Amino acid sequence: MQPQIILLKEGTEASQGRSQIISNINACQAIVDCVRTTLGPRGMDKLMVEAQGKATISNDGATIMKLLDVVHPAAKTLVDIAKSQDAEVGDGTTSVVLLAGEFLKQMKPFIEEGVHSQIIIRSVRKASQLAIQHINDIAVKTKKDDPKEHRQSLEKCAATAMGSKLINQQRDFFSKMVVDAVMLLDDLMPLNMIGIKKVPGGALEDTLLVAGVAFKKTFSYAGFEMQPKQYVSPKIALLNIELELKAERDNAEIRLETVEEYQKVVDAEWTILYEKLEKLHASGAKVVLSKLPIGDVATQFFADRDMFCAGRVPDEDLKRTMKACGGSILTTVADLSDSVLGTCESFEERQIGGERFNVFTGCPQAKTCTLIIRGGAEQFMEETERSLHDAIMIVRRAMKNDAVVAGGGAIEMELSKHLRDVSRTIAGKEQMLISAIAKALEVIPRQLCDNAGFDSTNILNKLRQKHAQGQRWIGVDIMNEDVIDNMEKCVWEPSLVKINAIGAASEATCLILSVDETIKNPKSGGGDGPAPGGMPGRGRRPF
Ligand code: ADP
Ligand code: MG
Repeated sequence: MQPQIILLKEGTEASQGRSQIISNINACQAIVDCVRTTLGPRGMDKLMVEAQGKATISNDGATIMKLLDVVHPAAKTLVDIAKSQDAEVGDGTTSVVLLAGEFLKQMKPFIEEGVHSQIIIRSVRKASQLAIQHINDIAVKTKKDDPKEHRQSLEKCAATAMGSKLINQQRDFFSKMVVDAVMLLDDLMPLNMIGIKKVPGGALEDTLLVAGVAFKKTFSYAGFEMQPKQYVSPKIALLNIELELKAERDNAEIRLETVEEYQKVVDAEWTILYEKLEKLHASGAKVVLSKLPIGDVATQFFADRDMFCAGRVPDEDLKRTMKACGGSILTTVADLSDSVLGTCESFEERQIGGERFNVFTGCPQAKTCTLIIRGGAEQFMEETERSLHDAIMIVRRAMKNDAVVAGGGAIEMELSKHLRDVSRTIAGKEQMLISAIAKALEVIPRQLCDNAGFDSTNILNKLRQKHAQGQRWIGVDIMNEDVIDNMEKCVWEPSLVKINAIGAASEATCLILSVDETIKNPKSGGGDGPAPGGMPGRGRRPF
C-alpha cells in the first residue's frame, strides 16, 4: 500500500479552478443585488436590523455593506471597496459596488468559455485606464478664481450628492449649509473640525450651523443655575482634573486611629480642593471645562465668583474646543498662565429644542463649526448625518479638485461609447473584452431607470443614440422619464468620484478573477464560515 501523505489538517476544504472563480463571481452578484435598488434619486432605502435589535435606515452603499456582515471571503472585497470609496471620496459607494459586480458579470461568460484570467485581467486594467484617461480629458473645469461661480459649483455638487438621499427635498437648504460649513474650515479642511450633533424634535429645516464649537450642556450640580451663561472674550480653562471632594481620599488607603485624625484628612481635602479652585479663579479664567466631574462644592464656588463650569465634557468636544480656542488640556493647575488658557469671542448657553447647548463662537485658532441636526425619528437624523457626511466629503474634494462631470449616467454612457470606439481599433480577444466593459458601464444609467420605474431599454437606446451624435453630457432625466443634458441641469459630480469608482471597481474585479483557489482551514476560520462553493453572501443577511 502507498503511504498516505497528509498535508493539511483534517477538515480543510479546498476548491479550485474555473468553477471556483465562477462561484466567487456568483457570491459577488448576490451582494450587488442587495444594494442595487438604492442607487440614484429614486433609489429605495434599506432597513437593517442588527443582532441587538438596533435598526438603521440607510441609502448609503458603504453603510449597508458594513452592516451586511458578509462572510464570503471573495465577496468581502466588495465591502472593502465600498469602504475605501467612502473614506477616499465619501460618495459613489453604491456605484462602485454596482460597477464591480457588473464588470464581473460581463467577464463571467469569458471565464466559462475558457479565456484565461490573466488575459481578462489585462483587458480590464486597460479598459479602466482608458476610461480614467477619458474622464480627465473631458471633465469640465469650474472657474475657481470667481468666488461666486466657484461657490455655486460646490453647491451643485453637494446637491447632487444629497439628491439620492432621504433629505433630497431639502437639498437646496442643506447644500448651502454644507458649503458654508466647509468654507469655515482652514486649508487642510480636517473632517473632525465639523462637529455634528443631533437634537430630536423640530423640523429638518431647523437644522443650524454654528460657526464655532457647540456641545450639549453637561450634567450639573446645584449652584449651576446661578452661574452666568454669557461671556464676551472669556478665558477658557480646559482640564482633565476632578474637582470633587471625595477625589483625593479615593486614591489612597488611609489607616486611622482617632476621630481627630479623620477630621484632619477631611480638612486637608477641603484645603486641596480650595487651593485648586483659588488658582483657577486667580488665573482669570471665566469658563472652566473638565473631562472629569466637577462637584457641587466647586460648582458653588464658581457660581459665587461669576464663573461658568461644566464637568464630564466628552473627550472629542473638549479636544475640538482646545483646537478651536487654543490653550491646552491640563492635568494640573500648578501653572495657569495665559498660554495654556484658551479664549473665544463669545460664549453662551443656548436653548436648542429641548436641549441646552454651550456655544463658543469666534474661535481664534483653528476654524471649526458644528452642525446641529433637528428632526423627528432617531434613525432619520442618523441617515441625515450620513448624507451630510457624503455631501461634506464631496465639497471638500471639489474644493481641491475643481473638475466636474455630469451625473445621472451621462459620464458612464460617454465612457461606454469611448471604450466601444477604442475597442474597434483593437484586434483579437481584447476587442471583445473591452467592449464587454463598455457594456458593463451602462449598468449605472440602467439601474437609475429601473429604480425610477422607467423603461430602461427605451431610455438606454435614446442615450446611446445621443452619445453617438457626440452629445456627451446627455443622461437620464429622473423627473420626466426622458434623457436630458445633465451638465445644463446641474447634476454635477466631481470627476474624482468617478475616477476613484472605476479604478476601485476594476481593481476588485482583477482581484476576484485572479483567485482560483480557496483553502479553508477549519481552525483558523472561526468555524461557522460557509463553504467556498455556494452563494453564502445571501444566507447571512441580517433581515
Ligand atoms: P452612490 O452611493 O453611488 O453615491 P447614490 O444613491 O447617491 O449612490 O446615487 C448616485 C447616482 O445618482 C449617481 O450616478 C448620480 O449621477 C445620480 N444622480 C444624483 N442626482 C441625480 C439627478 N438629479 N438626476 C439624475 N441622476 C442623479
Ligand atoms: Mg451618493
